[in-house]
Amino acid sequence: MAFNDSWNRRTFLGTLGALAGMVFGKGKAFAFSPAAGAAAPVSGFGASGNVYEELGVTTVINGQGTMTVLGGSLGRPEVEAVMALAAQHFVSIPELEVAAGKRIAEMLKLPEGYSAIVTSGAAAAMTSGLAGILTGNNPEFIEQLPDLTGMKSEVIIQRSHRNPFDHQLRATGVKLVVVESREDVKRAVNGKTAMMHFTNFANAEGQIKVEEWVKLAHENQVPAFIDAAADTPPVSHLWDYANLGYDLIAFSGGKAVRGPQCAGILMGKKELVANALLNNSPHENTLGRSSKVGKEEIVGMVKALELYLKEDHQALNKEWWRRLDAISAQITKVPGVSTSFSVPDVANHVPHMEIFWDPRKISISPREAGHALRAGKPSIVLGSSDRGLSTNSFMLQPGEEKIIADQLTQLFKAHAVAG
Ligand SMILES: *Cc1c(COP(=O)(O)O)cnc(C)c1O
Repeated sequence: MAFNDSWNRRTFLGTLGALAGMVFGKGKAFAFSPAAGAAAPVSGFGASGNVYEELGVTTVINGQGTMTVLGGSLGRPEVEAVMALAAQHFVSIPELEVAAGKRIAEMLKLPEGYSAIVTSGAAAAMTSGLAGILTGNNPEFIEQLPDLTGMKSEVIIQRSHRNPFDHQLRATGVKLVVVESREDVKRAVNGKTAMMHFTNFANAEGQIKVEEWVKLAHENQVPAFIDAAADTPPVSHLWDYANLGYDLIAFSGGKAVRGPQCAGILMGKKELVANALLNNSPHENTLGRSSKVGKEEIVGMVKALELYLKEDHQALNKEWWRRLDAISAQITKVPGVSTSFSVPDVANHVPHMEIFWDPRKISISPREAGHALRAGKPSIVLGSSDRGLSTNSFMLQPGEEKIIADQLTQLFKAHAVAG
């Protein structure tokens, strides 16, 4: 199967390059152990080289992008290699967090006074970042959360910026104060206001845009947070919001950056980042203790950022377009099928394609088509709505665009209306 072959090849090359990680031979798996100094065969579970097949779980071709529910992204072999190296030693996690954060701030050339920590994801960065604002470095407050007695208790957010991830803010016990206009903000700010939260993907929908939001916050002496979880590419977003003056910024590590799946970055003003860490694992009796981040993820995140910064982003973008063009060229040969293309302004700023068809010529509904692809062999995940199918290509592995085009063509032909 093409998917397995490309997976094996990638992993194999990564292991050769870095001398750590996993190698899957034909029907046999080996794990390289730097401590043992040799490749040790995997026996029992994992011996086949496909842990998912052994568990009876179907792997999918991911034409929907960096969805956490599908496993986010596929790790870079070199990241896996340094994670294996990190696993060889005990180390003080708080000391490692500070050192990794310093390295990240240097790599990204963040402004003076900014630092970072690695969290278990952007969601955890939101909770611990806000927790740090609420508690400062007061140990009693840290233990007390989510009981906010004695602390500030409100976060201002634009109505159109509300989304499922604001649960991570509410987890601290705060009340979200919803605003729409500048006047609403003026009225909303009071002695209980802890923070002003901005959801970057909703920039276009809100009356107050990303540059003005941070200014308004600072005019009112309130720290501004921005959730930019899925907002690379472009790579410059990794420093843009710090340069705009945002006090805290959350990014996912396991999306387009292709860092460890359970990693994210909280960057921001040094003191706020330090206070966030006090509210996070490994510190016990904290709200963030359940968002554990391991030495492997912390080190892997540093490596993933280094590699992401070095990437030829233009070439990547060109390749993403080529894959969509290839699918489009093939499926639009079927009478009645058409495609359209778009790139979201912010968040998942990568080429997207929608696939439509004339129901008089092809008698399957888009949702049925989505289910059929998911149930097919190999299983393919595309987005589906009443209007059509949607896909992006940035998480496809080599050759998968061809499989998608073939399966779609077969499906459409199978449902072609005679005459
Ligand atoms: C993915 C996402 C998150 C959560 O990020 P994780 O790294 O998975 O924790 C938060 N906010 C937005 C807008 C996201 O897209």
